[in-house]
Amino acid sequence: MTSQAIEAAAAVLGDLARRDVPLGPMTTYRVGGPAALFVQVDDEAVLRRLREAVAASGVDVLAVGKGSNLLVADAGFPGVAVVLGEGFAAMDVDGTQVYAGAAAAMPVVARRTVAAGLTGFEWAVGVPGSMGGGVRMNAGGHGSDMAAVVRRIRLADLRSGEDGEVPARDLHLGYRRSSIAAHQLVLGVDLELASGDPEAGAALLAEIVAWRREHQPGGPNAGSVFANPDEGAAAWLIDRVGAKGLRHGSAAVSTKHANFIQTDDGGRADDVYALMGLVQERVHEATGITLRPETRCVGFDPNPRVEVEG
Ligand SMILES: Cc1cc2nc3c(=O)[nH]c(=O)nc-3n(C[C@H](O)[C@H](O)[C@H](O)COP(=O)(O)OP(=O)(O)OC[C@H]3O[C@@H](n4cnc5c(N)ncnc54)[C@H](O)[C@@H]3O)c2cc1C
Repeated sequence: MTSQAIEAAAAVLGDLARRDVPLGPMTTYRVGGPAALFVQVDDEAVLRRLREAVAASGVDVLAVGKGSNLLVADAGFPGVAVVLGEGFAAMDVDGTQVYAGAAAAMPVVARRTVAAGLTGFEWAVGVPGSMGGGVRMNAGGHGSDMAAVVRRIRLADLRSGEDGEVPARDLHLGYRRSSIAAHQLVLGVDLELASGDPEAGAALLAEIVAWRREHQPGGPNAGSVFANPDEGAAAWLIDRVGAKGLRHGSAAVSTKHANFIQTDDGGRADDVYALMGLVQERVHEATGITLRPETRCVGFDPNPRVEVEG
């Protein structure tokens, strides 16, 4: 059924789709296999054809933003991976209202809003995602999140073919989650910010960047692996059970920040996934707490504790 759906989608997409495109290089983990089909959406005409292809075939969809919260299995993704091109990265500031295309990088939007004399989005300077991925994940940090600033988004439902504006209250933005489904593509985001002082904003940006450098590891990783449970910080729990530095093949729990996993050059996504399971097991055995992955895992065999995308 899956391969039938892929062929049906490929027939509609024609030369707009490429086959077996490696997704690892599009992620910050830099590991993982190919997408069966890959489409870059540069304009509305490509978007229309993509909608037709998905609606006609029922093929699974994976939106790929900056890949900073994605782990794709080494076996790859058996569906159509979709990336928004530069045509969806435009930004516009009107008073305290900001529009940003879903492909715009969050740190870029953070810096531009500060330069425009606005405050409220400085925290995003340290989140290396796109605006689309940021809304889907309800990304946040330093005491704020997308839910605090998003007014509405433009959303394309690739299955139903519907495309329209959705107010923030209908996105059910919770802690690192939203109700946006895998087959729904965020195209643009409207933010409501406040008037601020550009100098104070620039100082806050610098402070946040310095804090990140001091507390987070560099190299290939996808930020926090697990969401913080009600009981406390995931990093603290992982440290407490002695899993800091724990290694499985080419993946290791960071010794700098226990809620980060780092991959070796040429490493394997399946090692990261297995290591996530090991960490969950250790924490669960010692504390009874089940850590919920924040990283979106794609194309893996189900693990009862890890929600797999799709
Ligand atoms: C060093 C580092 C630090 C980080 N710090 C933070 C932090 O402080 N706070 C935080 O919240 N996160 C953090 N992250 C995680 C990550 O940056 C965020 O989750 C970010 O919002 C993901 O955006 P993305 O564009 O990279 O999405 P991807 O990783 O590409 O995708 C993530 C999810 O969003 C979906 N998606 C992507 N684009 C779209 C779209 N246009 N429409 C619909 N769905 C889409 C994907 O299908 C997937 O389900 C960090 C990551 C790294 C590497």
